[in-house]
Order: sequence, then structure tokens, then C-alpha cells
Amino acid sequence: MSSPRKAGANASNQWQGIKALPNGVQTDPPSAAHIIADKIDREGPISLGDYMAIANGVYYASKDPLGEEGDFVTAPEISQMFGEIIGIWLADLWLRKGSPDHCHYVELGPGRGTLASDALRSMAKFGCHPTIHFVETSPVLKARQADLHPDAIWHEDIASLPENGPLLIVANEFFDALPIEQFVSTASGWRRHMVMRDRSKFVVIPSEETTEDRIGSSTSGFPEDTILERSPVSVEITGNIANRIAKQGGSLLIIDYGYSRPGTGSTLQAVKDHMPISPFDSPGTCDLTAHVDFHTLANIARTRLLAIHGPAEQGQWLKSLGIDQRAESLMVASPKEADAIVAAHQRLTHVDEMGRLFQVMAATAIDWPQPEGFSYGGE
Ligand code: SAH
Repeated sequence: MSSPRKAGANASNQWQGIKALPNGVQTDPPSAAHIIADKIDREGPISLGDYMAIANGVYYASKDPLGEEGDFVTAPEISQMFGEIIGIWLADLWLRKGSPDHCHYVELGPGRGTLASDALRSMAKFGCHPTIHFVETSPVLKARQADLHPDAIWHEDIASLPENGPLLIVANEFFDALPIEQFVSTASGWRRHMVMRDRSKFVVIPSEETTEDRIGSSTSGFPEDTILERSPVSVEITGNIANRIAKQGGSLLIIDYGYSRPGTGSTLQAVKDHMPISPFDSPGTCDLTAHVDFHTLANIARTRLLAIHGPAEQGQWLKSLGIDQRAESLMVASPKEADAIVAAHQRLTHVDEMGRLFQVMAATAIDWPQPEGFSYGGE
């Protein structure tokens, strides 16, 4: 696995550097650090997944973390070109399927709603006017989304999504925010990474009991101290979505950083103010993420008989769908913006920026057309 990072921040990947939990500081509502410390005091060590779920739940509920003034920048916030290309990709699929009625645009973790605005504007140009569904848990971000999309319907999870038509589902930088578990090989077998308190700090310790059966793949032949990551939440969400798409038609488009072959090592990272920090410094005040396991998510979707396309590199995918031409036409329309458009295009597509780190994978219903943009890469 390559070095993990959010767009716009270099993050290292380490357990070290754990600083003191602010002792005796009681905030209202309680900080994630206090909720976690309290849970550990009551129940003993908690799994890394529980730690991450609490930390990110508090983090996303308490602020809008996006943009230069926030903690990290995402592709749709860099340029309208990103969402527009996704909209064209979706409209093309929909048109070639014969423009089915009752189509639903679904976005998982839509942030500020920017991607949806750009994508839906593009889709409308092709006569595609889906209903809008957002799966979002953060009240702060829901409010931002409502400013741009007053007609959207919000869902706490995917169970309540409509059942009466194809689902065109988009997830940009959503899966990386979902909780992961880590398993470490020791001389006495595989153990789960647990989060514990050491006086006023959070530290990671191996579980007392071995957990061989929880890992779900061959675990022999790994050297001691090997770390394997699993994201049961991501697997469950992908499985449920794939069931829906298999039944209702449509597609799931995932754009994120991750790996398409089984890998080892910790990819857990924390970003605050565009800088990497220790994931255990200040839970709830930084964005905790892990690399997305595209290999496993693809396999889950395949078991539901969806067709998998990619992963392809984001830069190549955007170029094959016409981002160069779109940048040129935007520059002709707004010559004063030319430098900013060139810079955004570079950031989204260049191999040293987001172009290679970010991967694009699609899962489509078996009777839907082959989507564009995947003649490169892929498993
Ligand atoms: N897709 C947006 C935002 C990415 S940040 C963009 O590209 O700009 C992650 C998004 O996922 C946020 O909207 C966050 O509130 C949401 N999110 C994180 N965990 C979630 C969960 N468990 N369920 C639903 N939404 C979640």
C-alpha cells in the first residue's frame, strides 16, 4: 500500500506521537476523547473500529471540514469539472440503457452538495432528471446540502432508499471515512488492535484473545507484526447496495484512495488543518481515514452478480471522459480564470497529485451497458 494521504495533505501512518488527553476538560457536548475514555473506563479496551466510528461521528457532526479553511479539500471542491464529468458518465449510462423512468441519483456522504450540483446540471443537459437522495449523518453538512438541493431526500443509511427504479449511486471520499478494524500477527496467533488508555493517553494494544476466524481470509505465512485491515461496515454497505442494484438496475461509482490487490500494513491516518497528525492525538477534531480495499468491495459486488469496472486511475479516467476538452472550453469562456483552471486540471489529473493516488471503480447491474472510462487499469 502506498503512503496514505488526503488530497492536499501529506499524511504519515504511525502509532507514535500520542499526546496527552486534555485532563479534566469537560466540554458541552462531550468531546470524542471523553466519550471514548468513558467507554474504555466502563468496558475495557475498545476495538479500533469503535474508536474510529465515535471519533468520526463527532467530527462530522460538529463541523464542515471541507475547503481551504477546513481540514482537507476534495475533488468536487477543486473544480466543477470533476462533478460535470461524473454527470456525463451517469447520463451516458442512462441514455444507453434506454432512458429508464424513475431513476434516482444517490450520493453517499455528499459533503457540501457540490458534486451533486455539477453532476445533476450535466445530466439535465442530456434530458436526465433523477430524483435526489443523500445518505448523510452530519447535521452540519445536511444543512449545507439543503442550501443547494432543497428538493433532496435525506437518508440515515441506505435501507430507506427508494425501491422503484434504477439507482445511480456516487461515493467520492466516503468509504475512506468508514471504520476499519486491524489485526496483527503475533507469535501466538492473530490479535485485534484495541484502543486503551494509558493514564491520559490513548494507546493501541493487541487483544487478549486470538481472532483468527474474524479475518476471513488465509492468514498463514505472514511474518510476525504484519497488520491486516478489514472494514466490515464498508463490506456491509457495499453488499446491501449491490443487492439493490442487482434488483433495481443502475450503478455504484466509488472514487477514493485505496488498493486493488490484497495488502498489508496500517493505512490509518488523521488530517487536521491540511496536516497529518497522529490518529490518537485528538479524536473528533481531525479526519480519520483508511485506504479503501477495492479488491474486497469488488468481490462483494461480484457475488451479487454485478459487473465490475476498474479500478482505474482518476487522472486517466477523467481524461478519457474529456476533462482536457472541458478545461479548454472553460478557459475560452473565462479567459481571466485560465490559470486557476489549468491548476485545478493539474491537481485532479496529474500522477503526482490526485491523478494516480485516487482510483475509480464502478459496479453495474449485469444487464446495464458497459460504462465509459475503464479501458485503462482494472483488475
Ligand atoms: N463526498 C464529499 C464529502 C467527503 S467527506 C466530497 O467529495 O466533497 C465524507 C462525507 O461522508 C461527509 O459528507 C460525511 O458527513 C459523510 N459520512 C461520513 N461517515 C458517514 C456515515 N457513516 N454515514 C453517512 N455519511 C457519512
